[in-house]
Amino acid sequence: MKPILLLMNGTLRLDDHPALVSACSSGAGVIPMFILDDAGAGDWKLGGARRWWLKDSLIRLATSLEARGSRLILRAGDTADIVESLLGEVSAVYMTRAYSPMGRRAQEQIHQLCSAHDTDCRRFTGNLLLEPEDVRTKTGGIYEVFSPFWRRAVELIDGSPPLGAPDQVPAPDNWPESQDITELKLDPRPAHWVKPIAATWVPGEDAAQDRLAKFLTEAARDYKAMRDVPGVEATSRLSPYLAHGEISPRRIWAEAQLHMMTEAQDRKGADWFLRELGWREFSKHLLFHNPTLPVRPLKAQFEDFPWREGVDDMVVAWQKGRTGFPIVDAGMRQLWQTGWMHNRVRMIVASFLVKDMLWHWRTGEDWFWDTLVDADLANNAASWQWVAGCGADAAPYFRIFNPITQGEKFDPDGDYIRTYVPELADMPNDYIHKPFEAPEGVLKMAGVSLGATYPEPVLDRKACRERALAALQSIKKQA
Ligand SMILES: Cc1cc2nc3c(=O)[nH]c(=O)nc-3n(C[C@H](O)[C@H](O)[C@H](O)COP(=O)(O)OP(=O)(O)OC[C@H]3O[C@@H](n4cnc5c(N)ncnc54)[C@H](O)[C@@H]3O)c2cc1C
Repeated sequence: MKPILLLMNGTLRLDDHPALVSACSSGAGVIPMFILDDAGAGDWKLGGARRWWLKDSLIRLATSLEARGSRLILRAGDTADIVESLLGEVSAVYMTRAYSPMGRRAQEQIHQLCSAHDTDCRRFTGNLLLEPEDVRTKTGGIYEVFSPFWRRAVELIDGSPPLGAPDQVPAPDNWPESQDITELKLDPRPAHWVKPIAATWVPGEDAAQDRLAKFLTEAARDYKAMRDVPGVEATSRLSPYLAHGEISPRRIWAEAQLHMMTEAQDRKGADWFLRELGWREFSKHLLFHNPTLPVRPLKAQFEDFPWREGVDDMVVAWQKGRTGFPIVDAGMRQLWQTGWMHNRVRMIVASFLVKDMLWHWRTGEDWFWDTLVDADLANNAASWQWVAGCGADAAPYFRIFNPITQGEKFDPDGDYIRTYVPELADMPNDYIHKPFEAPEGVLKMAGVSLGATYPEPVLDRKACRERALAALQSIKKQA
């Protein structure tokens, strides 16, 4: 019996992997393979932070497969060409369903090639709680507002138990050639950038499971109250593991349900956490039904919004965390140093870029794509559009986050700022969010010299707010 080719793209795990379990129980040998297709990804070739993560993750996955008598075959190149070259040697191709436009295109091509070669081709579910076709409004439409979407989704989630990892993965009689991991060119430039990121994270499915267990036992109870406080590790930080398919949403759902049954007092927190997982489902559904989500506004009138575009000194100041607004700078530096940023601060820095600076949300989306270890086409695009006011269920454009009051509310003692903007470490709480308002004596005592040790504000917020509202009026008039 010829072996089954199992494409592991998007599902870098052995736990709760329906395609893997099905292949293992077929009686045939299994060839687990990962294909890096940079050209096929078009504008959405993996960014630097995710390339670092992916390399580490593939090494760990290969080790787990070896412990089960198998291997991980690596290839770089055109997905369809690579699969076609193997079709004479395999009985079937198994894969986990993709939702991005490029993933869907590649899977459709594989499907057609398999049909032409009379080879079985199966797409399995595994990376969502519900498939995009499953959640429909009463009239069969697509949800554009999160709350009703999630209410309906919760009714539909069947809570079927996740599948365990197979003990053994049957080997084929002959292994196809594998490329060396160095040939995948996953090392991002500049190399020194990844050092602190590597010191922050442990990729791979074992680390994902540990993180979930730690979150449920230590932080779930206070999640609802603390999830907006960036100076405290109160959220799960599972996003990069989900982005790489190192843990399944069904595993998270099942473990959280179990936790809520045994620790009833944690129910509210764990429930709210699952609701956030719902936002991930919602974003994927939006992308599936609107494949241009990463590049075009969902609200058509925003096509004519007078965004500023390109990269100039102002954008570089934002990217480097040198805007003179401490919570914005702390967030952008957390991103650069760790490959991750707290959700509340993501909203603040995004609002600053698209509303205060009036820059196109795509500029921010691109920067996040390159620097986030959890960069995810659906979550990133839907979230940027949400902040910019042009997406589904979006924050209204005229609601402009004030970085000073947001900082004072969510980081009252400035713990987060002191961590990522150490030059402000000695500023008193009263001025840590607005050093530009501090009297000369206070600055001196804190060792801060504006324009020298820490930047002056790059913009006048009052004038920028008026400019943003005028820009909004301009598209309203056209509508
Ligand atoms: C401008 C902007 C860009 C973003 N880009 C991304 C991105 O590229 N990738 C990404 O995974 N998330 C993105 N988010 C959403 C959110 O910030 C992260 O998912 C969250 O901070 C991850 O931390 P966590 O795992 O501790 O989340 P938790 O609070 O523990 O939530 C659990 C899981 O739910 C999902 N989730 C939580 N919040 C959201 C949300 N608002 N939208 C969609 N899914 C959510 C994530 O998968 C997360 O891991 C973005 C948000 C903003 C405002």
